[in-house]
Amino acid sequence: MAIVLSGKELSEQLTQEQKKRVEELAKQGIYPGLAVVLVGEDPASQIYVRNKGIACETIGIHSVTIRLDADISQEDLENKIKELNEDRKISGILVQLPLPKHLNEEAALSCILPEKDVDGFHLINAGKLFTGQTGVTPCTPKGVMYMLKQAGINLVGKEAVVIGRSNIVGKPAAMLLLNEHCTVTILHSRTKNLAEHTKRADILIAAIGKARFVTADMVKPGAVVIDVGINRVDGKVVGDVDYEEVEKVAGYITPVPGGVGKMTISMLMENTIEAACAQAR
Ligand code: NAD
Repeated sequence: MAIVLSGKELSEQLTQEQKKRVEELAKQGIYPGLAVVLVGEDPASQIYVRNKGIACETIGIHSVTIRLDADISQEDLENKIKELNEDRKISGILVQLPLPKHLNEEAALSCILPEKDVDGFHLINAGKLFTGQTGVTPCTPKGVMYMLKQAGINLVGKEAVVIGRSNIVGKPAAMLLLNEHCTVTILHSRTKNLAEHTKRADILIAAIGKARFVTADMVKPGAVVIDVGINRVDGKVVGDVDYEEVEKVAGYITPVPGGVGKMTISMLMENTIEAACAQAR
């Protein structure tokens, strides 16, 4: 039976540490602040935004949610972001994705000052990650790396296989693993003989968005299996990994819920605190 890597426990520990750090920073006159920009009324986005607000409140970070109409123009959205760039109470800006279809996400994200881009999606931060420089790292893959590190898993020279090539999860996760000296393979929807690759993986990251896609026969015995997926099936949240079967062969596994998702919010808090410190310097 696999060892369960609990994001819930780790994030609770991090919350306590972050609370203390925020108190210490206040003594130095540094006050992290997060602005979340929410366009329209997508129900899932509303839940995510609410959870981010609660996390800020728990650790004592100032937060504001800017709610904009679904039919806002690109220009008005970009002007709002530029206003937040100038706001000294705001150290981090996050534009909740996806945006309504008529808006250009890339253009909107590129308006955020790279040092306030706490999601790490700005081209400058993506470029820094790609070239191994220090920038802002996207929260979900940063959370994955944190979980691996806390579990004491040695990554050097290991075969890491990432399923999914999105800019938000798959690609940055692959870059972070490469920076830690893994031998990395990225799989995607056009990959042939997918299982041949996954069966080689010492570290297997699933970021696909397809419920229970990774089955036990695709996993090397003893592998570390990290499930990023969040899928709703019959009102229940399940991951991209067939947890019940895969936990019998894997060495380590993350549950859904209570795994990577919890870490994502913790890393957003981390990025906001780090941004405030960097701006104070
Ligand atoms: P995405 O849709 O942008 O990317 C999915 C990727 O999966 C694509 O690159 C695609 O090539 C690949 N894929 C699709 N079908 C495939 C197949 N049959 N075989 C191999 N590869 C296939 O999604 P995303 O934003 O990267 O998110 C992936 C999953 O992670 C989703 O379930 C999402 O909800 C979840 N997610 C979770 C968190 C978290 O905090 N835990 C954060 C972001 C995303």
